Amino acid sequence: MTSSKHILVTGGAGFLGSHLTELLLEEGHRVTVVDNLYTGRLENLASLQERYGERLDFRKEDIRRLEFDQEVQEIYNLACPASPPAYQKTPIDTTETCVIGALNVLALAKKYNAKVMQASTSEVYGDAQVHPQPEGYWGNVNPHGIRSCYDEGKRCAESLFFDHNRLYGTRIKVVRIFNSYGPNMDPKDGRVVSNFIMQALRGEPLTIYGEGTQTRSFCYCKDTVRGFRALMDTEDEFLGPVNVGNPGEFTIRELAEKVLALTGSKSTLVKRPLPADDPKVRRPDITLAKEKLHWAPQISLSEGLPPTIEYFSKLV
Ligand code: UDP
Repeated sequence: MTSSKHILVTGGAGFLGSHLTELLLEEGHRVTVVDNLYTGRLENLASLQERYGERLDFRKEDIRRLEFDQEVQEIYNLACPASPPAYQKTPIDTTETCVIGALNVLALAKKYNAKVMQASTSEVYGDAQVHPQPEGYWGNVNPHGIRSCYDEGKRCAESLFFDHNRLYGTRIKVVRIFNSYGPNMDPKDGRVVSNFIMQALRGEPLTIYGEGTQTRSFCYCKDTVRGFRALMDTEDEFLGPVNVGNPGEFTIRELAEKVLALTGSKSTLVKRPLPADDPKVRRPDITLAKEKLHWAPQISLSEGLPPTIEYFSKLV
């Protein structure tokens, strides 16, 4: 049994934030969630609030103007829209959230000697020319394209985390998350898993961007947040960055076929233009996560899609 801590989760009302918050509460910790509800949703926390009462504190705050200032032992910085349509809608806010948000959580971690984990992303590898992507690959990012508000924001946040550690000894951890999916995703957030399942359930055509030959590697949310916990528990000397993702790689067309088979939907497939700078391939090299975190995903796409479909079916 781990001793009970006070833990801050920024972005805790979001998709992964809510799963992480649940895991931390299950472990017996006290959790403060800070979220501005731009893409986070209170319904993701409703059942946790009922189950755990005062051990869960929610504060509607924007991490660019973080007012929360209480002693915490751990901080997970998940606050940032992660879906391309969402982060591109307000691109300057996205970069500000990444950069100013990182500075604010780092200052808090330094003040209380707390450990702080940055939710970084496979997007730091951009349109990768090394496949699969190991952490040592520096990436191929368009610095002024429509994705750069997120990609460069997250890259800058990594830079700030490591400089804070070098300058002040701040206890940092950096995780690079690869395409996570599962219950609590926003049905309207525009990502491929939520789009395809909602379209299949409604009998609408599934929108394939480009030829659908681009690949992604999908990690079930419970595996992903287990990876965060494993990273936080590593010795202080291990900072990351470390990939957390499922190496099972699928073309977007294969994903569409799987969703159709599992939902029994008669929907057709329709082609739509491929957005600019859309990465052609993506698969994590998880050698480092296995070695340092003793972590590997346990839930395959075929196992993770049914509970995800069940969640979305209640929202149609
Ligand atoms: N995509 C698609 N149809 C959709 C939404 C997305 O074909 O309705 C494609 C998108 O172009 C990308 C992949 O699916 O190649 C994953 O997109 P998503 O927005 O989920 O995440 P990304 O990995 O691009 O951040």
